[in-house]
Amino acid sequence: MPFQTGLIGWPLGHSVSPAMHNAAFAALGLEGRYDALPVAPEEVAALVHSLPMRGYRGVNVTIPHKQAVMPLMDDLSDAARAIGAVNTVIVERFSKSLSAEAASNDLGNRFTVLRGDNTDWLGFLHPLEARGFELAGKSALLLGAGGSARAVAYALAMRGVSQLAIWNRTPDRAAELAHHVAALAPALTIHQFTNSPFPISHFPFDLIVNTTPVGMWPNADASPWPDDLPFPPGALVYDLVYRPEETRFLRQAAAAGCATQGGLAMLVAQGAAAFEMWTGLNPPMDVMLAAAAAALRS
Ligand code: NAP
Repeated sequence: MPFQTGLIGWPLGHSVSPAMHNAAFAALGLEGRYDALPVAPEEVAALVHSLPMRGYRGVNVTIPHKQAVMPLMDDLSDAARAIGAVNTVIVERFSKSLSAEAASNDLGNRFTVLRGDNTDWLGFLHPLEARGFELAGKSALLLGAGGSARAVAYALAMRGVSQLAIWNRTPDRAAELAHHVAALAPALTIHQFTNSPFPISHFPFDLIVNTTPVGMWPNADASPWPDDLPFPPGALVYDLVYRPEETRFLRQAAAAGCATQGGLAMLVAQGAAAFEMWTGLNPPMDVMLAAAAAALRS
């Protein structure tokens, strides 16, 4: 059975995910396909329920369906539950028969389970772990309190940061995220801020993460960081924005002597984690990165 996978969202626009996953299937010599599946909100339930019948092994889920698909799942991972969003659906097939031979021959005697997971938090952690950045006991500043901020905050809480400051334009959303993370990690000290400038004079932040879309193409001249605000010395500055690959925020941080991390590695790592869930195989991350970068530049 081919590895049929895809991406559901609305509108989908130009996604790099099909190029990245299809390159991975080709590199591993697998019969597989990753389709763009634009689906309007009123049709998402019917599409998700049809996935097993249409032979899908799973799909990624993007805006605006990440919350909407949750009640459609038979099972949710701890991460999806804690983050409050599903970005990966896995179609699990079981045979009612215990005989392996019958299981492979008798497709009619199968049943399926839709499992919802979230790989954004793993994707966020991957480049940090790859560069040996230890999060335990560190102090982090999060810019933004939307969907990706929830995945990042979950990752930071799971890896034991000791202080988390959340800055967001809309105060209620910062408060909601702070409340949410406090329930997940009672030992974590959480601060919320809604007014610029960022509270860098109060805390020696080790990590600053932009989870807002500020600086994203076509507004690449924008940055969430004021020009006259210094960066905390020695901080690692991470931008989730990956279009452009090097944002103005990262250029400001690099000019101030900070180490920087762009969002493309996270995009690839969250996709690779989903690929592994669907196929059970080690994803060729270098191939996926090259394909994603080429798709972004095209
Ligand atoms: P989202 O749920 O819509 O949240 C956006 C957040 O940014 C909110 O907190 C919002 O504040 C804030 N914001 C938006 N415009 C702003 C502005 N002009 N000034 C200040 N704050 C602003 O979006 P998301 O899903 O978290 O995605 C955010 C960004 O992360 C996007 O650029 C997306 O491409 C990127 N992303 C990257 C990856 C990756 O793999 N690299 C994964 C996920 C997301 P309010 O609450 O005040 O509206």
